[in-house]
Amino acid sequence: MWRRVVSLYPLLSPSKSSVLHRAKGGIASKEKTPFITFVLGGPGSGKGTQCAKIVETFGFTHLSAGDLLRKEISSNSENGAMILDTIKEGKIVPSEVTVKLIQKEIESSDNYKFLIDGFPRCEKNRIAFEQIIGKEPNIVLFFDCPEYEMVKRVLSRNEGRVDDNVDTIKKRLKVFSALNLPVIKHYTEKGKVCKINAVGTVDEVFEQVRQIFTELMV
Ligand code: UDP
Ligand code: MG
Repeated sequence: MWRRVVSLYPLLSPSKSSVLHRAKGGIASKEKTPFITFVLGGPGSGKGTQCAKIVETFGFTHLSAGDLLRKEISSNSENGAMILDTIKEGKIVPSEVTVKLIQKEIESSDNYKFLIDGFPRCEKNRIAFEQIIGKEPNIVLFFDCPEYEMVKRVLSRNEGRVDDNVDTIKKRLKVFSALNLPVIKHYTEKGKVCKINAVGTVDEVFEQVRQIFTELMV
């Protein structure tokens, strides 16, 4: 006997144009309140690469949560050792630590358009951000990439990262599907997610991204 498995995902997924329509007011806002884009996707899905292109083309400020944490490690801050251990294990740094780092960057920036890359990684992160910053993202980009492709990219990127090895990648992928996918589901239900097919060349993927931001900027 077999059961028909019905995926809820398509029902929960609003059309891209309705997501963009709702987010547009924010970016055109004369008061220049922050326009927040969360950039999500598994390790190696291309978040950082695409963020650099969005910065270049659309004038956003790129805040990579992972880079901010790595900066804490190399500046020997009081949390450095704890952050290093957490990253080596592929686990998630306590929310308040990461949110405070992001908050400092937002508050000291002259820009009002932000890409927050690789955050929130779990529901606790999301709730801490919304409480401390007092704002939800205007839009969420989700780079959708199969695991085999992510593993291939992470293992070939050679950036000297302590967590780009087979053991840690396996842990990071588990953490991604157990803890980060629920965040994506939450924002999908709120009509804030634009899903991007992350398989393809950098330029092919950026064409999808470009369309989204071009619509947002008008
Ligand atoms: N990390 C975290 N909280 C964040 C972002 C990153 O704890 O908000 C830690 C986590 O251990 C993660 C690592 O930093 O596995 C690397 O994150 P990064 O976003 O740099 O990795 P990517 O997904 O880009 O490969
Ligand atoms: Mg990254």
